[in-house]
Amino acid sequence: MVEKYAAVVLSAGKGTRMHSDVPKQYLMLEGMPVLCYSLQSFQQSMIEDIVLVCGSEDLEYCQKEIVEKYGYTKVRAIVPGGKERYHSVFCGLEELAKLSELPDYVMIHDGARPFVDQAIIERCATAAKQYQACVAGMPVKDTIKIADDAGFAAKTPERKFVWQIQTPQVFAFSLIYQAYRELLEMEASGKAISVTDDAMVLESVRKRQVRLVEGSYKNIKITTPEDLEIARLYLI
Ligand code: C5P
Repeated sequence: MVEKYAAVVLSAGKGTRMHSDVPKQYLMLEGMPVLCYSLQSFQQSMIEDIVLVCGSEDLEYCQKEIVEKYGYTKVRAIVPGGKERYHSVFCGLEELAKLSELPDYVMIHDGARPFVDQAIIERCATAAKQYQACVAGMPVKDTIKIADDAGFAAKTPERKFVWQIQTPQVFAFSLIYQAYRELLEMEASGKAISVTDDAMVLESVRKRQVRLVEGSYKNIKITTPEDLEIARLYLI
């Protein structure tokens, strides 16, 4: 059986830590908006369908200035996102659920992470087939301390067990879609929700193990102005 892979690329949110009027995912990086780099990688990969999730005010910009201008023919829909990242992910999954042929696996990726490459995509696709749930990441290089409320170092986890987590985060489609539905139902019933990545949704709603897959140290998320400078250096 040939598995069908889809991607949800996230491009909503304001990214206030960049202190820029233009959301970070649309800032120009060596002649192309940041968002284009990951769309290009997915366009060139085994992914068949891409759903792009953006701010409702940016739907036309994304259609004309990103998808049509650069020819991302695998983008099946551009849909508005939500208040938090997990709301935006759910909007993307809902759109994929409307496809006549559902994907077997979905790669959820931050559009603000331009350096996802074919090797990362392939490693994640292989691990997703084996484990049904995996996330790209890298072991940390620095010692990590867990702080207490007063700003003192409270714990030092053993470094070899600490990973910094990236995207893509890749899952069997029905597994993650159902977990997200449950998460949003919990939120609607008044339960406080705090999830910062997709793996956390499975971990909290399903108590399901998620496999860590090697991403790359270069697979940075553009968050603050220094990240954009580093990204430019990578492209020289
Ligand atoms: O703000 P942060 O760096 O955590 O955002 C990670 C990714 O999630 C970015 O690509 C951003 O566009 C996306 N996002 C989203 N909807 C939100 C918040 C963030 O699609 N409400």
